[in-house]
Amino acid sequence: MPKFIPVSEPTITEKEIEYVLKAVKSGWVSSLGEFITKFEEEFAKFVGTKFALTVSNGTAGLHLALVSCGIKEGDEVIVPDLTFIATANAVKYTGATPVFADIDKDTWCISTEDIRKKITSRTKAIIPVHLYGHPADMDPILKIAKEYGLYVIEDCAEAHGAEYKGKKVGSIGHCGVFSFYGNKIITTGEGGMITTNDENLYERARYLRDHAMIKERRYWHTEIGYNYRMTNMQAALGLAQLERVEEIIQRKREIFRWYQEGLKGLEGIRINPEKEWAKNVFWMVCLLIENFDEEKRDNFMKNLRERGIDTRPFFYPCSMMPMYRKDGFENPVSYEIYRKGVNLPSSYNLEKEDITYICNEIKTQLYK
Ligand SMILES: *Cc1c(COP(=O)(O)O)cnc(C)c1O
Repeated sequence: MPKFIPVSEPTITEKEIEYVLKAVKSGWVSSLGEFITKFEEEFAKFVGTKFALTVSNGTAGLHLALVSCGIKEGDEVIVPDLTFIATANAVKYTGATPVFADIDKDTWCISTEDIRKKITSRTKAIIPVHLYGHPADMDPILKIAKEYGLYVIEDCAEAHGAEYKGKKVGSIGHCGVFSFYGNKIITTGEGGMITTNDENLYERARYLRDHAMIKERRYWHTEIGYNYRMTNMQAALGLAQLERVEEIIQRKREIFRWYQEGLKGLEGIRINPEKEWAKNVFWMVCLLIENFDEEKRDNFMKNLRERGIDTRPFFYPCSMMPMYRKDGFENPVSYEIYRKGVNLPSSYNLEKEDITYICNEIKTQLYK
């Protein structure tokens, strides 16, 4: 049996251990402490925004960002159909309705043309998702948003450090939301961050994150807020990871190049795009196989698994899920692409020889 290669595992070094230990030993184990402040300051610097606010996870961050923008029951929020379900669910938590726009066939991110088609008088916001590490095409999205007076909340959960025309994602819309789940570019175990240049939005999110307690009067709450705070221990892990983020991204890009080389010349496949205006951080290396359907894909995944190679299918379109399904509704590009895609092992710890082995196994599976 060959060794098992997971799709994703975190990279934890002595630095992370040292910082977490320091946080634990300090006694500041909850959501106050020096690591929280430092992590927020440094993350804001990294993204290039005035403010960054830690939250308990990315989903909570999306919900908090939406609520802070005033999204509520009766509103509509446009989200890409092909994304992790959290993007749509966060909209639902506010009482608003997620409206699923199709994706662009080249970037796999939300299609600007389809956003236009899905705007109604109830539309209040757009959540572009920088899927698998590639930024969405933001300029046309911002233009539409301005035209209709909509909020733009970037879902950056998979794209820490990705750039759109030289600007880091999370600094382009009204706010950005990141996730630090264990398989993301950097991790705090569970955790998230909201980034913004808008002081009012920041203050509002901060207040709602802490049960809407007013600054002037302790334990006085003027509306129903949330406990969406991160712990100092998680921030310690996050800060250590953030200090290594450039190195991690560089490695992600290198891993992608190894795949690119290893799969060169194979017909009927595609791997992640990188538009001329984009810096992709390749959260997951993706393989799209033209003649695949769900059955062929699942077989392919099973065979690779038997050879010790873990893979994941692409996300299903959100609009296929029982709670969002509407008869006859289909976004053609999302419904075509999801069946063809798998995520390949993409961890920081992989060596070139691992990728060579994986590429050879892929060739064997596709050509047998
Ligand atoms: C991971 C992820 C989230 C949710 O983040 P959690 O921290 O797991 O709550 C949201 N959106 C996308 C696109 C994600 O990949």
